[in-house]
Amino acid sequence: MKNLFQYTREKLATLLVDEYNQKAFRATQLFTWIYLKGATSFDQMSDVSKDFRAVLKRDFSLEKPTIFTKEESKDGTIKFLVGLADHNLVETVIMPYRYGHVLCVSSQVGCNMGCAFCASGLLKKKRNLTTDEMVGELLLANEILKPAKAKISHVVVMGTGEPFDNYENVMDFIRIVNDPKAFEIGARHITVSTSGIVDKMRQYAREGLQINLAISLHAPTDKQRDQLMKINKRYPLKELMAATKDYVKIAGRRVTFEYILLKGVNDSYEDAVALAKLIKGILAYVNLIPYNEVKENPFKRSDKARIHQFLDWLTKLGVHAQIRKEFGSDISAACGQLRAKVKHG
Ligand code: SAH
Ligand code: SF4
Repeated sequence: MKNLFQYTREKLATLLVDEYNQKAFRATQLFTWIYLKGATSFDQMSDVSKDFRAVLKRDFSLEKPTIFTKEESKDGTIKFLVGLADHNLVETVIMPYRYGHVLCVSSQVGCNMGCAFCASGLLKKKRNLTTDEMVGELLLANEILKPAKAKISHVVVMGTGEPFDNYENVMDFIRIVNDPKAFEIGARHITVSTSGIVDKMRQYAREGLQINLAISLHAPTDKQRDQLMKINKRYPLKELMAATKDYVKIAGRRVTFEYILLKGVNDSYEDAVALAKLIKGILAYVNLIPYNEVKENPFKRSDKARIHQFLDWLTKLGVHAQIRKEFGSDISAACGQLRAKVKHG
């Protein structure tokens, strides 16, 4: 059985033409049914011949992951655990911004990048998520929002996992999110966050998509970044900055640098100066992230006053920066602090 939610429209059209002797428009027809009309069975597809519906039923499934548990925070953030067919669980978060509902999607079960401050990295990567599983996260989120007559308007790939370590599946997922015959979410409303896998950043720059790229920087020098992120040993700052400049030039897009403020680690005035120097001349802005403490490691969140002071320093140094709004802190639902806490029976 092939899960129908794994295909971009283009790939589905190729498959239907090559292996099923169908016309390419069938792919658009099927997309309309499953994404725009929300069909849950092939029998509902009244403009598809009975014979071909039988073929579809024989070879394709419309299976989705399930909602395993769901929690809602006081500020309206909704975190849910998605149950996958093989009983793995991943977390997904819906954040109610003023401009829309933002979905934070996981891209892997666990993560192998092993960043010292991150809860996701505590769970070694078990496997990549498939495209249909990521599509499933989005379909389930829209189901949750349906009673409120709302739906997801923005997608950030910032949950558990390193998206560029699952490049092809994530890119296909994004194409489906962006497709006017599927979720129709504009490229500028989609963001992928990477810890800095340089060769994949270079590939991404050449995709010709107008999607936002966020880069987890978190430290202004190699010495500091080596301590926080293992990836820095493989791709040190010089290479990361070169790839970032290349991205800005080729994609013609501004990047976001994510910078978690960790008390006494990367939040001094010298750090602000080093950061300003490092990214000077790059079309970018810095997202300062208040750290969500993780009990398994010693890192502490910078004080509120210091967070504002750091923003002030950066601004005076000519860096465009802002402090990321926090969501769901009462249910530890912060994007980037995801881990499946519940284990299957
Ligand atoms: N693996 C990708 C995307 C997922 S993490 C990446 O690292 O970019 C998404 C963001 O959340 C990253 O910037 C990550 O560094 C940050 N993050 C991880 N743990 C966090 C925590 N405990 N508190 C705040 N932000 C965290
Ligand atoms: Fe993985 Fe990102 Fe966490 Fe690093 S910060 S361990 S890359 S999820």
